[in-house]
Amino acid sequence: MDPDELSPATRVVSLGRVPREPGAQVGAPLTLTSTYHADGGTSYGRVGNPTWTAFEEALGSLEGGESLVFASGMAAVAAALSLVPHRGRVVVPTAAYNGTLVTLADRADAGEVEVTHVDITDTGAVVAALDGARMLWIESPTNPLLEVAEVAALSRAARDRDVLVVVDNTFATPLLQQPLAAGADVVVHSATKYLSGHSDLLLGATVTAATERGRALHERIRRHRQLHGAIAGPMETWLALRGLRTLSVRLERACANAAVLAERLAQHPGVDRMRYPGFGAMVAIDVSGDAEAAERVAAATRLWVHATSLGGVESQIERRRRQPGEPEVVPENLLRLSVGIEDVDDLWRDLDAALGAI
Ligand SMILES: *Cc1c(COP(=O)(O)O)cnc(C)c1O
Repeated sequence: MDPDELSPATRVVSLGRVPREPGAQVGAPLTLTSTYHADGGTSYGRVGNPTWTAFEEALGSLEGGESLVFASGMAAVAAALSLVPHRGRVVVPTAAYNGTLVTLADRADAGEVEVTHVDITDTGAVVAALDGARMLWIESPTNPLLEVAEVAALSRAARDRDVLVVVDNTFATPLLQQPLAAGADVVVHSATKYLSGHSDLLLGATVTAATERGRALHERIRRHRQLHGAIAGPMETWLALRGLRTLSVRLERACANAAVLAERLAQHPGVDRMRYPGFGAMVAIDVSGDAEAAERVAAATRLWVHATSLGGVESQIERRRRQPGEPEVVPENLLRLSVGIEDVDDLWRDLDAALGAI
């Protein structure tokens, strides 16, 4: 069947498999090789791998473009940032993934790029910052404040000014948001998170539009991957594809859990402010109290996993400002909650009890 006619819930299951032939394996290939017999399609393991192709086929279809897999989300971020010309200006949210912000700050210190920080929810202010810029970097919802950007309006304004638009779609996943359809040029993912979903690997990916402009970007990013060597391990890629098979059901449960918890947390006396964009499975709370109070809550959980990272089947909790490089606009008492797929009442009982530790 034509993948374009299949719903995303079917595509996550059915794409990236070997052709249906009698005796062929049902699952995706796990190809462990550094090189290939000469005169075939792929020459060397840094250039291509059938396991990458399987993952890229599935993710590319979900995002509506052409995907490239990387060793981590940050390798994909670095590849996307390589599209900025020397001394080009990048417009970026004030609060975004700290690895992206720190990379940009380091490159700005070295005189390689200029950076303008914006409130990504203020479309007028973002558009005003675009003149003369070379790249607009969007996260939506942002990590960890869960702010939502108007991706389509921003992409249109950027396109008018010849500014490349990159969207880090890690939090929403292609099942909840497809930035390429909204006019973005490049999507980046930390596949470490929801796409793989089991907290057992690191992986990243880019996706570019299947247009002439998109193909040119794809080729530049592919060349970056081949020459910088930040390539994905076939084993990690295979595991990520296996995890991707259940993305639709995992996300359905996690999002339903998050909606219930967000409502209950908003009423909780231990919570000063509850942040939830109305979709997705990420919630953040500013606890009533200081950084130490927030740390006590995270440490007091028994079911929630006190750890950095997100998007796994298990619910995870962390005070974000304990991470060096986290921007100062993130409150010291903010706890980021990555809601998993456990029973929601078990999650609530644990969280409610932990909030008693304030
Ligand atoms: C985790 C994360 C990254 C970095 O991904 P790694 O796989 O850890 O390298 C980038 N962007 C966002 C939004 C993330 O949450």
